[in-house]
Amino acid sequence: MALSDFQPFGRWPVALLFLALFGVSEAVNLTFEVRRQSIAVFLTEIPLLLSLFYLPPLTVLTVRMVAAVAVKVGVKLTPVKYCFNLATKLAGTALAGAIVFRDWPFNNVAPRTWLVLAAAAGANVLVSLVAVIGVITLVQGRISRVALVRTAVPGLVVAAVNLTVGLVVLLVLHQSIWSLLLLAGLGVVFVQAYRSYGKFLRQHKSLNELYALTRAITESGRDGVLVDPLLARLRELLSAEYATLWMPASGRHPEMLLSARADYRGLLDIAGTPDSLRSRAMERGETILVGPQKSGHEWADVVSERGVKDAIIVPMRSGDAVIGTLEVVNRLGEASHFTPDDVRLLETVAAQAGVAVENSRLVERLRFDAQHDALTGLPNRRRILSALGEAIKVQTPDDVVAVLLFDVVRLRHVNDSLGHAAGDRLLAEVGRRLRDLAPPAALVGRVGGNEFALTVRTADAEAALALAVTIRESLQGPMAYGVLTIDVDCAVGVAVHPDHAADSATLLQYADVATHAAKGRRPSVQLFTSSLESRSVRRVGLANDLRQALDEGDLRVYFQPKVGLRDRRLVGVECLARWEHPVHGAVAPEDFVMVAEHTGQLGRLTEVVLGEGLRRVREWEEAGRALTVSVNLSPRTLLDPAFPAQVAQLLGEYGVDPARLTLEIAEGGVDGDPTRALATLHALRDLGVRLSVDDFGTGYTSLAALRRLPVQEVKIDRTFVQGMATDPGDLAIVRTAVDMARNFGLTIVAEGVESERTLGLLEDMGCDVGQGFLFSRPLPYERLNAWYTALGQGESTAAGDVRWLRAVQ
Ligand code: C2E
Ligand code: CA
Ligand code: CA
Repeated sequence: MALSDFQPFGRWPVALLFLALFGVSEAVNLTFEVRRQSIAVFLTEIPLLLSLFYLPPLTVLTVRMVAAVAVKVGVKLTPVKYCFNLATKLAGTALAGAIVFRDWPFNNVAPRTWLVLAAAAGANVLVSLVAVIGVITLVQGRISRVALVRTAVPGLVVAAVNLTVGLVVLLVLHQSIWSLLLLAGLGVVFVQAYRSYGKFLRQHKSLNELYALTRAITESGRDGVLVDPLLARLRELLSAEYATLWMPASGRHPEMLLSARADYRGLLDIAGTPDSLRSRAMERGETILVGPQKSGHEWADVVSERGVKDAIIVPMRSGDAVIGTLEVVNRLGEASHFTPDDVRLLETVAAQAGVAVENSRLVERLRFDAQHDALTGLPNRRRILSALGEAIKVQTPDDVVAVLLFDVVRLRHVNDSLGHAAGDRLLAEVGRRLRDLAPPAALVGRVGGNEFALTVRTADAEAALALAVTIRESLQGPMAYGVLTIDVDCAVGVAVHPDHAADSATLLQYADVATHAAKGRRPSVQLFTSSLESRSVRRVGLANDLRQALDEGDLRVYFQPKVGLRDRRLVGVECLARWEHPVHGAVAPEDFVMVAEHTGQLGRLTEVVLGEGLRRVREWEEAGRALTVSVNLSPRTLLDPAFPAQVAQLLGEYGVDPARLTLEIAEGGVDGDPTRALATLHALRDLGVRLSVDDFGTGYTSLAALRRLPVQEVKIDRTFVQGMATDPGDLAIVRTAVDMARNFGLTIVAEGVESERTLGLLEDMGCDVGQGFLFSRPLPYERLNAWYTALGQGESTAAGDVRWLRAVQ
């Protein structure tokens, strides 16, 4: 029995059956994934072809239109789209009906019937295709050939397959109505197979995307920019309106709330997620899925109130701790919702992301630590160098990049006398003051144990120097430490790009060179000059040459007269070491003394000078000239406990009265290790040797502290003496020092006497002894003797003018 014969109740049951079939074929579509494109396949051609065989054309038209209207009722469509759909269907079905009209009713299923039916159903396909292409052309203008092929070919292929399937079904049905059962069975199998295929496809797709996502996370985690790719991909993967990452503030990290949103390319700092849901996920450390499929619990209100359709909130962990949440909100598409599969997916991503975020935070932290000083929290040397490099790169002809290097003076002293906690406090205080005083665009960092750098753009080198002077002045002042006060002060060196150096490392090094020079100046601020550099560069490689010079007696000792100002008599000489380097020429004493200090040759150097001084004193004494001799000591020499014994031995060796030897120690010399240095000073004093505080005024010895030192003489630093004739400040300092020394019963020596006017002022003040170019430059032994002899005869010498002197004897 064929279906056409089965008409006990007229055509109505068949018409109803097709109504249902049309409805199903309109509503249900199958999606296939072909070359990364998903193609939706409608099966409309099959019921159309069959209905054209079994029902009169007009009935087919009616049934199809009713089905189309009925199915679209629940679906929101714009009126235009709705009418367009109906019109195409009407036209297509009408054309198909017209084609079969002459042959209907068909009395067999011969190939001619196939052709007619296929032509009719095919015409329907063509009508809708032409309509779609027409609309696209209307809306977009001309349609490209590629787009035309893309639109038409898959549709036509699917239609051909559908028509074939339709004809096969027709043939089978025509054989026997019972084949319906077989067809139904086949249909079930087909749908089942399609479903698993679809599921497989989807899983495959999400696995691929998950893989890509985790790759993106791990790769970006390495450079610390993780969130951007994570959220954008996650939003796409789960077809969500929002994908959000939230991490509450913790430690150094501020709160982070970032969302990728469907209609926005970058990241937003808003989220679609209700806060209450988020904090709940965070507190409980459990995933929350809300939506119609999981509604009915207490969150449903919150959800509807915020206009949230559905959401998944997954806690993100690092180890056991929940560090934040990963959220997706509002599945795109009105009818679709997040599923338990989506939850699993998001949980997988959150696990990955938790690790990656922690890693990137770790990277951030390591990077921070690598670039900052732990004590002050300021950028460290590395950071300063790279900032300098960047500044140099974008330097303009209108300004310079300046480095101001601040050396905290007396830090060692504070560390030794008050402990390291006090030293740390001092450093932190200097860092804080510097940051407060720095211009807004400046970067302040700690670049060494007691060194801070300030980098800034200024108009020129002079402006940088002026800034250094201003900041140093404002930086000074006492700092409270418990009941004590610590004096804060810095020596500042300044170097600028491009005047002094081309790269950041050299610039910083030159600022350092300038800082060292600044320590001997007043005010302690120094702009770099190339003469400073040649000095510091020359120091390198001098060590071996110095050793050789010391061994071979190439290190010479010059003598500079010290003149009693009351009676203008020569009272003694200061021994000053001289070294003529075979290649470099004369090396400044400061330089080779430093080389000696750093290469363990200081003892030898001091011994050579001391020996030579004592030998000459002995010779003078034998010639009837009672002179004293002064020898300079490096601060480090005071740390050598064997030194006093060595002095005693040399005194004995040359047979010199200890009272004829004066040892000069620079004012800062006692700062290093006061206890040990003091012990040495006392031991020397016990020998009967005289002690002198050299360069007085450059250090920070208070008058009271000076009194506690076992010294007999104070030498006012030459910078004050040189300035006293013109600078009232210098004059006041010299006057105070002279008064103070008189009060304490100390001999006061003014070094650097260069002018008559200065000499007059010193005499008026009652200064005891003068030394300086006015009387004589340092001279070799023979020349000093000549000078001395000339002195007796009232002659002038090249070295100095003897008019100012009277012979001692
Ligand atoms: P100092 O102890 O302050 O030595 C005085 C310096 O002032 C000497 O420089 C001397 O040449 C210079 N001077 C003297 N009179 C005048 C003057 O009227 N005007 C000016 N502008 N300068 C004057 P010098 O010889 O270059 O020595 C520099 C420093 O090197 C010394 O400063 C001393 O600290 C150190 N030094 C020299 N010889 C020795 C030594 O044998 N051992 C140690 N440890 N240090 C030494
Ligand atoms: Ca000296
Ligand atoms: Ca001096």
